Amino acid sequence: MPLQIPMHTSSGVEAYVASREWTIAKLPACPLHPSGGCGLARHGSYARAKPSGVRVARWYCPQGHRTFSLLPDFLAARLPGLLAEIEETIFAVARSPSIEAAAASMRDLGVSLPAAVRWLRRRLGPVQRAIRALRDADIEVALVVDAGFLTRLRLDLDDRALAHLPPPLGFGVRGHGRQTVEGCQHKMGPDAHERTIYPGRQPNPLPPPVWSRDPTEHCNPNARPPPRTSCACGAQTAASARAARSNTCSG
Ligand SMILES: [Zn+2]
Repeated sequence: MPLQIPMHTSSGVEAYVASREWTIAKLPACPLHPSGGCGLARHGSYARAKPSGVRVARWYCPQGHRTFSLLPDFLAARLPGLLAEIEETIFAVARSPSIEAAAASMRDLGVSLPAAVRWLRRRLGPVQRAIRALRDADIEVALVVDAGFLTRLRLDLDDRALAHLPPPLGFGVRGHGRQTVEGCQHKMGPDAHERTIYPGRQPNPLPPPVWSRDPTEHCNPNARPPPRTSCACGAQTAASARAARSNTCSG
């Protein structure tokens, strides 16, 4: 599996596809060989199954025998679709009396309730762990759970921080919550002044029905999702300050 790296873009999915941003994506250095000399080269692009039309730029390091793909900020990592769709799932849980009720409201007749619950937990659990890791790490970043919050976090957090958070928000190892927290604490300090400041110790940023559960995950990440999902929107917050980036589509 190619190593996924964030590609920072303020474009939405429509603009990304319309301007074929994957063709102008830049990876200035090999993640394995930052000083260069390994022959890192572009390696075409591949299409994501969802959303339609989205392609992901790819690089190959011949010395490390590794492929790297640059995932635009609106895409979920290690899960199909958009981060916004993950949010919709989370908000559906927040509005429901239980995870099971939320899953029941989202599934269709072709998906069993246990399968729908597993599908939902694969999205809810990692986001809970990521939010908890960010809070425990006491970093200065906007943690306001409303429409667009996952994409904003992808934009606001630096690559090193994202590498320690679980997918679909980050690019770390799935299902290792405590290691993720500690990784953030040790790795994220120096850049904190560059982010919008929200005190790290604040009430749970997720609504109680979402926050209080810690679903276990022992399921197939590629299982078919329920086709119907609900949508909820919160108030938009001011955009957060952003640190300068290297992995971009334009510079
Ligand atoms: Zn290399």
